[in-house]
Formats: sequence, C-alpha cells, structure tokens
Amino acid sequence: MASSTTRSSPLDVQITFLGTSSAQPSSTRVHSSLALRLSADVWLFDCGEGTQSRLQQSIVKMGRIEKIFITHTHGDHIFGLLPLMASILNGAGGAADGAEDTRQRIDVNDPVIEIYGPLGTRAYVRSGLNYTHTFFNSAYVVHELRLPWDPKSGDHTPLPCHSAESPNGRNIFQVDGVWENIYADNVISVSAAPILHSVPCVGYVVQEAPLPGKIDPSKYMPEIKRTNTPFSVMRRLQLGESVELNDGTILHGPPRRRGRKLVILGDTHNPSAIEPLAQDADLLIHEATNAHLPNIDPGTKDDDTYQIVEQRTRSRGHSTPQMAGAFAKRIRAKQLILNHFSARYAGNDDVDPVAKTYMNAIAGLAEREFGKEVVCARDLMNVNIGVPES
Ligand SMILES: [Zn+2]
Ligand SMILES: [Zn+2]
Repeated sequence: MASSTTRSSPLDVQITFLGTSSAQPSSTRVHSSLALRLSADVWLFDCGEGTQSRLQQSIVKMGRIEKIFITHTHGDHIFGLLPLMASILNGAGGAADGAEDTRQRIDVNDPVIEIYGPLGTRAYVRSGLNYTHTFFNSAYVVHELRLPWDPKSGDHTPLPCHSAESPNGRNIFQVDGVWENIYADNVISVSAAPILHSVPCVGYVVQEAPLPGKIDPSKYMPEIKRTNTPFSVMRRLQLGESVELNDGTILHGPPRRRGRKLVILGDTHNPSAIEPLAQDADLLIHEATNAHLPNIDPGTKDDDTYQIVEQRTRSRGHSTPQMAGAFAKRIRAKQLILNHFSARYAGNDDVDPVAKTYMNAIAGLAEREFGKEVVCARDLMNVNIGVPES
C-alpha cells in the first residue's frame, strides 16, 4: 500500500465476491473467497477451492494480490491457497534430477505475498508445498494470530521452512482479547478478533485513516489573494492544516472526514468478541449459512420451526440471516452483505427467478432484524464502498 500522510484523494475501495458457498460448492457458487481492492492493491479474504478460476473470470488482477487473510483453516476457506500461491509465485513443476533449480535461491527476506491466519496456517502451507515438491521464484511469509492457549513459539510442524518461506513470520498475540493493528501503514490498518465457530476462527476489521475534508476554494481564495500569500498554501489547507497568511491571518482547512471501516467475518455462530472493533462499520460481511424458509423451500421439514433451525445452525457454528441482521444492528453497521450460503441456495439469482425468490427471502429475514436493506452476495458480484459524507 502506498503510504503517505499527505494523500489528498481517497482510496478507490471495491469488493469482489469470488466464492460464496459453504460446505459444498455448486454449479453457481464456489468456496469462500473475496477480493478487496484498495486502489491498485488487492487483498484476499479466504481462499477456498475455485478462487483462482473465479479470479480469472473477475475484474480483479491476480498479480496485484499482496496480502491474503485466512479466517480459519476449514478446507472450504483455505483449499485454494496453495494453487493460487503457485500461480502468483511462479511455482509450477520441479527440476530434472541433477539439474539445479534456481528457484531455490530466492531472497526470503523480501516476501511478495503476506499471509495472515490462525495457528495451523503456516504448517498447512509448508506441508502442502513440501509434499507436492513445489518451488517458487519469489518468497512468501505467514503471520499467525495466536490464541491465549496456543503455543507461544514454534511453527506447529516439525518441517523446516520451505525454500521460499520467510523465517520472519510473526506469531501475534492478543492484547485485551483482540489483535490490534496486525498490519498498519499511513493509509490503512487491519485489526482482528476471535469469533466463535466450531474451530478457531478470526474476523477482520479494515480501517481507513481519516480522509481530507471537502474544500471550498471560494472560501479561501479572496484572503489568499488579498494578503499576497502564495497559492501553494491551498494544498496544505486541503489536507486540513491551518496556515498563516502574510498578514498574520490564520486560515483553517476543513476538518478531516472519518475513513471507511469494513468488517469481514469468517464462519461464526457468535462474533461478539469483535464488537468493540466493529462498531459503526460502513460495511459488515456476515455469513448466513442456513435459513428457515417454510413457504418457499419444499425441502423444509414439517416439524421444523425457526427456533429449531437456529438451534441446529448454531450447533454447527453457523448463523441464520436473522442472527446476521441482529449483529449488524448491534454494531450500527451502515450496510450488511450476507455470504457463505448452503448449497440449497443457488447463486444465479440474477438470472433465475426461483433462485431470486430464495435469496430475496433470505435478505428479507435479515432485513427485519437489521432494519435496513440487505444484499445477498453471489459469485463475481462487485460492490463499491463509497467515501462517507461526513
Ligand atoms: Zn465455511
Ligand atoms: Zn468453517
């Protein structure tokens, strides 16, 4: 990320949903993954099977991927990681017996891809690369978000570092129950918190630094002209600074606007530990694996009630649309997008009226709790996240 305290134009922020299915992929949805575009840079959140093909069908440029955030090590969120790394880091094939493989002499202190995830992410990547005899042209690094009961050190595997793995992967520990600023530059920062699922799982909060305020030049120009002060002071005013004119008059730039906050959760039946970080999110992305749709889904069991479906969904570590809507309301999110749907709910609702009926009903269930419009993600859907007004 280009870091500059003097940026005068906001980032272009866009999300592309690459995969939106839960346990089993279908012909219309592949496993979990989404791309966050921050102007020219791309960060991925989860990388399930099918991510790479979806990337090729999408507007996202694979070569721009710098960081990959894994929410948890369930296969439907990580099975696509190694093939994607092999493509980005040029890792196809091995060398013939006796021939030198130059890819084994790379600068591991200059990783091209940074991966973040819970304990096991590093070991999973290392083992997969080791047993598939995969070598890379460029390096990667894995930082792990460790829970209080996780080992304090070590890599969770007896295998030594892969030839392309930076040994500088951090083990990051919580402070006050969260992982704050696991990444930060002058433009953007990322924090994380544990969210409850059937296995250790992480939710991420991406926070943009405050933006320059909207400037009205006609408010300043007469004074600047009158005092014969160089026009270059406009640049500083634009950044919200106060400037002194030639006659001692002080002009104040417009107040800075708050930056955007995006909350991207993994699988969960209770994300409350991320609440303090997630308050007032501009966008919440929350799973809604199962829904009770008695008048729409002919597969609904006769004796099922919403309570029974919620209980069953919770017991598997997942959420219903109502649970997602209630959480969005609790954190006062401005926008809610649901993802991670059961294979029962087809993802071609833009062209298939039956799928549309299902997805509209699911959105409606979340909307009743949230009190605002809710969007159900489908694969290859793009969403722009505009600059806040104030
Ligand atoms: Zn999942
Ligand atoms: Zn899971």
